[in-house]
Amino acid sequence: MIRKFSSHSRPKTKILILGGGFAGSNILREMQKQQRDDVEITLVSQDNFFLFTPMLPEVSSGMLHASDITTPIRSFCKTANFCHAKITSIDLQNKNVSLVRIFDQKESTLEYDYLVLALGSKDNFFGNVNIENFAFTIKTLEDAIAIRNHIISVLECADQEKDQILQEKLLRFVIVGGGFAGVEIATEIHHFLLDATKNYYKNIDPKNVKTIIISARDGILPEVGDELGKFALEYVRKSGIEVYVNTKAIDAGEDHVLLSDNTIIPCATLVWAGGVTVDPLIASLKCEHGQSGRLVVDSYLRLKDNTHVFALGDCAHLVDAKNNLVYPTTAQIAIRQAKLVSDNLFAEITGNANLVKPFEYHNKGVMATIGKRTGVALLNGRQVHGFPAWFLWRTFYWLHLPTREKKLKVGFDWILGTIFRADIMTVGFIKKKTLSRLETPIYSAIERTIDESQNVSYL
Ligand SMILES: Cc1cc2nc3c(=O)[nH]c(=O)nc-3n(C[C@H](O)[C@H](O)[C@H](O)COP(=O)(O)OP(=O)(O)OC[C@H]3O[C@@H](n4cnc5c(N)ncnc54)[C@H](O)[C@@H]3O)c2cc1C
Repeated sequence: MIRKFSSHSRPKTKILILGGGFAGSNILREMQKQQRDDVEITLVSQDNFFLFTPMLPEVSSGMLHASDITTPIRSFCKTANFCHAKITSIDLQNKNVSLVRIFDQKESTLEYDYLVLALGSKDNFFGNVNIENFAFTIKTLEDAIAIRNHIISVLECADQEKDQILQEKLLRFVIVGGGFAGVEIATEIHHFLLDATKNYYKNIDPKNVKTIIISARDGILPEVGDELGKFALEYVRKSGIEVYVNTKAIDAGEDHVLLSDNTIIPCATLVWAGGVTVDPLIASLKCEHGQSGRLVVDSYLRLKDNTHVFALGDCAHLVDAKNNLVYPTTAQIAIRQAKLVSDNLFAEITGNANLVKPFEYHNKGVMATIGKRTGVALLNGRQVHGFPAWFLWRTFYWLHLPTREKKLKVGFDWILGTIFRADIMTVGFIKKKTLSRLETPIYSAIERTIDESQNVSYL
C-alpha cells in the first residue's frame, strides 16, 4: 500500500542522484513510489535517457533501433527534477556537486543532504593510448551507432576494392574481450556481415570476411562456468568466428592490432570490450577505493565514514561475504542495489537508521546470446544452452525493458527481423550546433557589419 506523507514546515531534504543508468534510474523510480513531499529529488545525467545496455549490441547490427532501447529520464520523473549536465566535481566535505550544462557548458553547483553515486563505469584501456585512439568501444548509444556506420562504410569500400589482400584487410573485424559484451557484439557483427554480404555486396568474396575474438583467458564467457563456456567456444568457432584464447591485444594502429604472441592482425575494425574502470571523477574522490578504483561501500551501500553518501552499481565496490568476491558489474546487481538504497535512504531520513538493511544478493543466473537463436544460461546451477537459453535471454531482458512502449517496439523489431533482410543504411556526417555563450548576445557583432541605414529589430 502506498502511504502519502504530510508536508512539514522544515525545509525539504535534498537527495541528489548522480547518473541515470540502471542504478540511478531505478532509485529514482523506487523513491518516487513513496510519494513523500518532504524530500526533493534531483537526478543529474549527461545523457537525457536511460540506456538498456543488454540490447546495445543489437543496435550495432541494426536488429534494433536506438529509440527501442532508450527511455527519456524525464518520463520517469513524476515529482523529481532532472538536470541534463555533466558532473565535473564532487565536494564531499561541503556537500555540493559542480556541473556543466550539456548544451552551452554553463557551470553551476547543486547542494545536497544525501548523495547517491551511480555514475557507472568506463572502458579500461590499461593505459594503452593507441588502443584507446584506434578502437571502437561498446558502452554508449553513440558507440553502437558508430560501429554500425563504420561496418557498413567498410562493406561499401570493400565492395569496390579489387585487390583481394586489401579486401581481406578491410573485412577483418577484431573484437577484444571474451566476456559478455565482447562475445555478444562479435556474434551480432558476424551474423550481420554474413547476411549483408550474401544479400547486397556481390563483389565481396564471403571467404574474405572474418570476425575474430581475442580473449585473455583460456576460453570465453567465464561467468557461465567451464562446461557452458566450452560449449559457447565451440559453437562460436563453428559459426565461423575465429577465437584466439590466452592472448591479449597489446597495441594497435589505424590498420592493425598487435597481440601478446607478437602476431599482427591487419584489420580496419577493432572493437575494445576488454574491461572497465571508474570515471576519473570517481577515482579522484577522497575516500576508500577498491578494485579498479570503485568506491568501497559498507554492506548498506554507504561510503565508509560518510553515511550521507550512497554508492551503487558499477562504481561501487562491495565484497560478497558468501564467496569473498567483489560483486561484478552487472545491470541485475545495479537494479537490486537501487531498491535497497531507496529503502535505506528513507530509513535514514526518517530517523530510523536502525532499519537500514544490508545488501544480499542471490544470483539466480547468468545468460548470454552466442549467435542466431542460440545462447547459454546458468540458472540456479542448471545449465541451459542452444535455443532454450536464447529464448530465456530474450524473454528475461524483454520483460526488464522499462516501459510497455519499449516492449512493443523491441517485440515488433524482433518479429520484423525474422521477415526482412538486414538494413544497410549508413548515417553520414551529422552537423552539431552549440552556443558558446547564452547571456551575452553574439549577434551584437552583426550590427557592425550591417549598413546603418538598415533597421535591425530583435525579438
Ligand atoms: C554492451 C553491454 C552489454 C551488457 N549486457 C549486460 C547484460 O546482458 N546483463 C547485465 O546484467 N549487465 C549487462 N551489462 C552491464 C550493465 O550495463 C552495467 O552493469 C549497468 O549498466 C551498471 O549500471 P550503472 O547504473 O552502475 O551504470 P550505467 O548504466 O553505465 O549508468 C551510468 C550513468 O551515469 C551517467 N554518467 C556517467 N558519468 C557522468 C558524468 N560525469 N556526468 C553526468 N552523468 C554521468 C551516464 O550517462 C549514465 O546515465 C552490459 C554492458 C554493456 C556495455
